[in-house]
Amino acid sequence: MFMSIIIENLTHIYNFGNPFETKALNDINLNIEKGEFIGLIGHTGSGKSTLIQHLNGLLKPSSGKIIINGFDITKKGVSLREIRQKVGLVFQYPEHQLFEETVYKDVAFGPLNLGLEEEEVHIRVKEAIELVGLKFEEVKERSPFELSGGQRRRVAIAGVVAMKPEVLILDEPTAGLDPRARDEILSQIKALHQKYNITIILVSHSMEDIAKLVDRIIVMHKGNVALTGKPSEVFRNVALLESIGLGVPQITYLMKMLHKLGKPVREDIFTIEDAKKEILKLMRRN
Ligand code: ADP
Ligand code: MG
Repeated sequence: MFMSIIIENLTHIYNFGNPFETKALNDINLNIEKGEFIGLIGHTGSGKSTLIQHLNGLLKPSSGKIIINGFDITKKGVSLREIRQKVGLVFQYPEHQLFEETVYKDVAFGPLNLGLEEEEVHIRVKEAIELVGLKFEEVKERSPFELSGGQRRRVAIAGVVAMKPEVLILDEPTAGLDPRARDEILSQIKALHQKYNITIILVSHSMEDIAKLVDRIIVMHKGNVALTGKPSEVFRNVALLESIGLGVPQITYLMKMLHKLGKPVREDIFTIEDAKKEILKLMRRN
């Protein structure tokens, strides 16, 4: 069976039948292939968090199906434990959920719950802590509460990575971090993807971050998928993106402006690195 996530006619209604009823997802259809790095983007309230919480069984659809690796996880009697081992979900502000007295214990919590041998747990904890860019020996016995905000966030991510999920979903993993911590976490997520070829779904509202990292973007708007495609395809739709409160990366606006001024530069540039090459080319020409 081909390893993938298939979302079929997924609708989610909160508070069904009472005055607070909200349709958060409206008949969503999506296919995500194994190994894809997906950027899920959309304005606040567009349904991103609701969507991803369906992928590990935390929320149940009001209607529709979710099939992961050929297995319908929305069927009655499905083991949520098994799903959660396959699909790791890092919530927004995951450090708020750290609770153990040491970093080691916090990261080991999930693997221990899977019933793994102590030795295997140790290997996984060490590997996960190093994968998120922390030094195992330095942090293992420390209290998560003594660490910086960025480090705490990484410990929380390590706890999910240590479960060795096939799909890793991160809900705004850089929210509230300073630029340096943000760049570090993003580059570690990228390294994880490259090293293990796991499927990654990164929820973000930063066009800059998404443009740099992902294979494909899914744009949500009011519970619907407004657009999906490679960054180069999605960022062509400037007017549509702006109409739903988004936009394209700042650097893309700059390139478009240069193009408009008659400079022979490409407009389909989304990262600072590519812009630099293009601008250097232009300068050499003059
Ligand atoms: P996003 O993550 O894109 O900001 P959400 O999935 O959190 O969007 O929210 C989608 C819609 O569902 C919003 O209108 C939001 O107010 C509503 N919503 C989210 N969570 C709940 C909840 N637990 N109860 C009721 N409504 C909710
Ligand atoms: Mg959200």
